[in-house]
Amino acid sequence: MGKARHAEIAGAGLGGLAVAIALAQHGWSVRVHERSDQLRMFGAGIWLWENGLRSLDALGVEAAATKRAQRIESMVARDQEGRPLLHRSFATGDRLLLPPRADLYDALIARAEELHVEVALRSTAVAATAHGELELEDGTRHRGDLVVAADGVFSRLRETLLLTRRVDYLEEGYTRLLIPRLPEDSPTEITEYWSGSRRLLYDPCTDEVNYVCLCCPVGDEAGRRVPVDKAGWLESFPTLGGIIERIADGGRWDRGMRVTTRAWSSGVAAVVGDAAHAQPPNLGQGANLTFQNALSLAEYLERAPDVAAGLARWERAERPLTDHIQRWTDLYGRVASAWPDRFAHRRSQVLETVTRIPWVDRQMNKAARHRPVGAR
Ligand SMILES: Cc1cc2nc3c(=O)[nH]c(=O)nc-3n(C[C@H](O)[C@H](O)[C@H](O)COP(=O)(O)OP(=O)(O)OC[C@H]3O[C@@H](n4cnc5c(N)ncnc54)[C@H](O)[C@@H]3O)c2cc1C
Repeated sequence: MGKARHAEIAGAGLGGLAVAIALAQHGWSVRVHERSDQLRMFGAGIWLWENGLRSLDALGVEAAATKRAQRIESMVARDQEGRPLLHRSFATGDRLLLPPRADLYDALIARAEELHVEVALRSTAVAATAHGELELEDGTRHRGDLVVAADGVFSRLRETLLLTRRVDYLEEGYTRLLIPRLPEDSPTEITEYWSGSRRLLYDPCTDEVNYVCLCCPVGDEAGRRVPVDKAGWLESFPTLGGIIERIADGGRWDRGMRVTTRAWSSGVAAVVGDAAHAQPPNLGQGANLTFQNALSLAEYLERAPDVAAGLARWERAERPLTDHIQRWTDLYGRVASAWPDRFAHRRSQVLETVTRIPWVDRQMNKAARHRPVGAR
């Protein structure tokens, strides 16, 4: 038997751990470098669609990641008067589960440990080369048959590989938090409330907590304040006192970002996750795509004559779907936040009609209904 191939990965977020697990399952030895001093996940919820769930199943973590998650049965967006704006329908076989992020992250960490993935904390990567070298801040260099930049949206490694095409700072940002669950809360329906340029997303999460995401333009200083300006949000959503009053201090605000790359790899170095395709979270697919791309990366490397050829094939096969979802999640955000005021009275009617067109439904759910390469 030949020597196990070795991978060096920068970043132990959802993407870095998913790639590490996928490779380790194929017999690779893997080391992940994480700049933080501990593995930590910010604690709001996360949408896991069928494609992400199938990928997580193949990575051996689905059951643990979703043990407390609610299963979502419907999604609706409403205007401030409560009128429905759009529905996302669920076809037979569509699944959307909503666990706390921490459950997902803990499941990935446990699986990585089980597979003897080495995680080096306080280990900051500063550069990668197409020949398989990873350079750390302390000056040491590590060599791998494969190097992966999974260092997030502001990836430092991506540009050392000259792979950045564009990094867009978007006009919207998001405050995410968990609120206590009450018996009268819907356990199965996600509702997104729209009021002017603000949105409030209510997501059932576990038996104890719900996930709330407040979305507003970056220029809306009161809207993006943490701790949340509850009086201001109540003014925008006067019927949602029951949710807004439950918001406690804490939460976290992030600006929406979009990353496009020239390519997903250079030689034997690849970019994965937000480093490769960060996107506004309107369709809840950023991490789901990351999981399916991480899983398939290991599959393509297994089948290819060498690592560079495998990475090129992987991108050719996987990127079109990721690009498609990036465009549609963008479009969703534009419709939600940049609808012209003079047509405000038509928004409800137009969106209700458009989102019921089967073709539109297929475009929005194209990733969710995709069967990931490597999934059982
Ligand atoms: C508001 C919001 C809601 C979202 N909701 C969903 C959702 O419901 N469903 C979904 O699928 N996706 C969602 N996403 C997207 C999802 O969160 C991301 O796609 C995913 O977390 C990306 O993971 P990552 O590992 O690529 O990046 P990150 O999570 O950013 O991880 C990068 C890791 O690399 C480390 N690091 C950075 N630089 C270095 C370095 N130089 N050396 C070593 N380590 C380094 C960081 O400390 C971090 O641990 C959402 C995003 C946002 C902003």
